[in-house]
Amino acid sequence: MNKLDDFKAVEKIPGNLSRREFLKFCTGVAATLGLSSMAGVRIAEAATSGNRPPVIWLSGQECTGCSETLLRATHPTLESLILETISLDYHETLSVAAGHQAEAARQASMEANKGKYILVVEGATPMKDGGIYCKIGNKTMLDHVKESAEHAAAIVAVGSCSSWGGVAATSPNPTGAVGTPEVLPNKTVVSIPGCPPNPYNLLATILHLVTFKKLPALDDIGRPIFAYGRLIHENCERRPHFDAGRFAMEFGDEGHRKGWCLYKIGCKGPETYANCPSVLFGDVGSASWPVGTGHPCIGCTEQGVVFEKSIHELAKVENLTPPTLFPPIVEERGTGVTPASAAVAGGVVGAVVGAGAVIASKMGQEPATESDSD
Ligand code: SF4
Repeated sequence: MNKLDDFKAVEKIPGNLSRREFLKFCTGVAATLGLSSMAGVRIAEAATSGNRPPVIWLSGQECTGCSETLLRATHPTLESLILETISLDYHETLSVAAGHQAEAARQASMEANKGKYILVVEGATPMKDGGIYCKIGNKTMLDHVKESAEHAAAIVAVGSCSSWGGVAATSPNPTGAVGTPEVLPNKTVVSIPGCPPNPYNLLATILHLVTFKKLPALDDIGRPIFAYGRLIHENCERRPHFDAGRFAMEFGDEGHRKGWCLYKIGCKGPETYANCPSVLFGDVGSASWPVGTGHPCIGCTEQGVVFEKSIHELAKVENLTPPTLFPPIVEERGTGVTPASAAVAGGVVGAVVGAGAVIASKMGQEPATESDSD
């Protein structure tokens, strides 16, 4: 019997999934977190235990894109999984209540759930002139964040604006906008940057908290390592083309149509840490992330890259790996392939050719060409 079949205590599966689909999903979350399949069972039990942690979701200087990405998620009912795993007590866009009623709901939830609720902050917080440039219910965002954080069990900064200031904090930053960690220097703030962030990473963080009663391991700027531990460049399906020296030189050219590497048209994947190539966005196919669809990564999870570095500027390649000698760029056969399939299919050849070139150059030989591998 499959170990997942041991899990019987599910009365209500969130998100209209079948029991097996739900268990598979939780096992996938466990794998994303770097845990075993048995941890998936524990996550499933915790998610269906009925102990939904209250969440207070504040919105400051933002475009509501982070909430939108949650609601528009097309992973199987991901938004339902999140909304049924937590009790969303306060959210300015999604709350039925408005005005004084909404503010009263936030106060009531904080009072009733002292030390138990999760505070999620979306958007930057202006600090200049006492924070008057963003007010909700006649109170500054600065006061809302400080007040709501005081008795929170965990604090999550969702999106790049909340993580370090994002768009609002770009020069000349007229409102003195900062990220949530800067507003709360003495608190642990989990940052889930992205513009928008992947809702799967928010769900995995919440499920980790609900299941193991602690935060996942974080890097030195508060990002969960399971999601931000690797460069996009490390897992990109176009990476073999980079190694083989095959680059799109402009949008729509032959290399772009064939799915070659986007580095020379501004891809910031080599200096951006995120799991986009492995988690993707939505469940709509293997190309459902910017690079997969032919757009260079803009480095939206990386402070100092997105909103600050022009798209035409070349990325700093953090881990320069072989080849030391590029193989000749040769014509690929066949037409009518999608960029993504060309990236994958061509990439296999590219990896072989690229590796062959490096080995050959080290041995003082001429590198092999694609026709040699036929
Ligand atoms: Fe790296 Fe970007 Fe090229 Fe992918 S498309 S291999 S992330 S430079």
